[in-house]
Order: sequence, then structure tokens, then C-alpha cells
Amino acid sequence: MTAVDQVQLAQRVASGDRQALAQAITIAESTRADHRRATTELLKTLGTVTHRSTRVGISGVPGVGKSTLIDALGCHIVAQGHRPAVLTVDPSSARSGGSILGDKTRMPNLSQCGEAYIRPSPTSGALGGVGRHTRETIQLCEAAGFDIVLVETVGVGQSEYAVSGMTDVFLLLLLPAGGDELQGIKRGIMELADVVMVNKADGVLEQTARGTAADYANAIRLLKPRSNSWAVPVQAGSALQREGIDRIWSQILACASVLNETGELQARRAEQSLTWMWDDTIAALKTKLESDESLRPTIVAMEAQVRAGTLTPTAAAERLVSAFLNRRE
Ligand code: GDP
Repeated sequence: MTAVDQVQLAQRVASGDRQALAQAITIAESTRADHRRATTELLKTLGTVTHRSTRVGISGVPGVGKSTLIDALGCHIVAQGHRPAVLTVDPSSARSGGSILGDKTRMPNLSQCGEAYIRPSPTSGALGGVGRHTRETIQLCEAAGFDIVLVETVGVGQSEYAVSGMTDVFLLLLLPAGGDELQGIKRGIMELADVVMVNKADGVLEQTARGTAADYANAIRLLKPRSNSWAVPVQAGSALQREGIDRIWSQILACASVLNETGELQARRAEQSLTWMWDDTIAALKTKLESDESLRPTIVAMEAQVRAGTLTPTAAAERLVSAFLNRRE
């Protein structure tokens, strides 16, 4: 991409052109070296400080009702005069090369809504770069004028930490469950939550959902609070019946506002920027190391020895680092 193309793309993204935004995100998702450079330049041109948005992470196991909730919540947010962007961090779709159902089918109402932008899950081309390009995608959406960014992740562990590390407020969706099953949810993931909703509080599950919410409300009090100024609300609701959606949204906004007043929001973002810097530094060094021809034989030898169990991974890593540092440019 030429410098002129880049300036034009930046202008089109900044004017809210969806096609340009989609193109910019595709470039950000690419691992090609020239695309990486183009993305860095694009984000520099667009600037990052002036585009403030509220970034919301939404997580829960498959089937809990994330897409149903985002469909309802997104429409509610639009009715409040906002422009939401929805992104998905889905390691399983990265593996299989896309969602089984397209995101348009998963969020039928929101996808009809001109004020919202839904970015389909990254395909296998983005493997390995999920965290990195999602952060860049968030900034591109903000630069295109979307003031609420909803980042959805499938509850499989690692991705919750990644998403919590790039958002301001984290909403955890849970299923109605009996007492024993409460133990199943990982403590670490509960500790990330700022707002909790037990979904499917309708029909035959309504009472169970309310009971589950009460149990979680008790359980969460025993955990280390993520913030000293925000007490995590836990409630039952129904994404399908659109019951409790407005309350959830008020709580997300209230949480963002409290964290903003106490300075915790700024602290979270500052910490996230540092993590981003180090993630990028490590990724860049790794790319440099892997693409250095003079190190190829050492890499091949280290990999073979680690595989064979004749060298420990730690010792191999030390040798690789020192070979890298002592190589001739
Ligand atoms: P996701 O995998 O977390 O995105 O879950 P989906 O939104 O695709 O929902 C999974 C299934 O649960 C679908 O059949 C939904 O219709 C259903 N579902 C979602 N929310 C609710 C709800 O509030 N109540 C009930 N009864 N079913 C729901």
C-alpha cells in the first residue's frame, strides 16, 4: 500500500466509511510484514487519544446467550443514541476458519441496524494474532466514530483474560445452575467480572436463574474485588425476552462512570497500554528471531532437542536468546 493510499484510507475510516473500516481491519488482521507496518502507520495517522469510547467485554460459555444478548443490548444502545461496534474474539472459530453460523445470523436485529457495525469473527488467517489485532480493531472502530465497542468472547479460559485486558467493563453471562455446578466456574474468571447476569430467567428456568443469581451474589462477596469502588451487581435476566437489558446497560455505564471518577478507568487503560507495548515488543522480537537466516540452524537444533527431550525448554530458550543477542547483523 502506498503512502497516498494509506492517507486516503485513514480519511475514509475517519469519515465513518464502513467499507474502508472493513478493509483497514482486514489489513490489521493480516500477519504480513507490510500489512503490519501499514496498520501501525494507519493508527498513527488516525490518532488514538481523541476517540473515546466505552469498551465492554462480554463473556460466557457457548450457548449461554451471548449473541441473543448482544442483539438485544446493541439495539437498546442504538435507541439510546449510540453507535455500537461488535467484535468477536473466538479462538474456536480461528481454528475452524469462521463461525458455524455467520455473525449476521447470530444477531439478526442488530445486523439490520444502520448505526451498528458487526465485525465477523476472524478466520484462520488471523491465528496467533487474536489479541493483537483485536486491540487494533477496537481503535479502528473508535476512529470510525463508534462510541461503544462490545468485544464478545467465548468462555474457554485464555480469551477472557485477553478481552478483559482490552476493555473497560467486563460483563459475565452465566447459566442457571444447581448448587453443585456453581463450583465449576473458574474463580479467576469471576474475579474479572464487573457486572454479572444469569441469563435465561424465563419460563421453567426463571426460579432456578433467580436462585443461581442469589448464590453467585453471595459467592462473589468472598472473592477479591476487582475494584474497591464498585460492588459487582449480580442479577437474573432474559436476553430472549429482553428482560433486564436496560438494567444491564445502566450498570455498565454506572461502572464505567464510577471507575472514571476514581481514576481506575485511566489506570486500567494505562496498564493495558503497557501490556500492549510488551506484547508487541515480544512479538516483534520473535518475528525477527524466526526470520533471521543465520539463526535457522540453531532454531532447528533446539527444536529437535526439546522435542526429543534431550534439552529442557528453558535451557533451549536461553541458548536461543543468547544466539540472537550475539548474532552478527
Ligand atoms: P451464545 O453461544 O452464547 O452466543 O448463545 P446464543 O445467543 O446463540 O443462544 C444459545 C441458545 O439459547 C439459543 O437457542 C437461544 O435462543 C437461547 N437463548 C438465549 N438467550 C436466552 C434466554 O434469555 N432465554 C431462553 N430461554 N433461551 C435463550
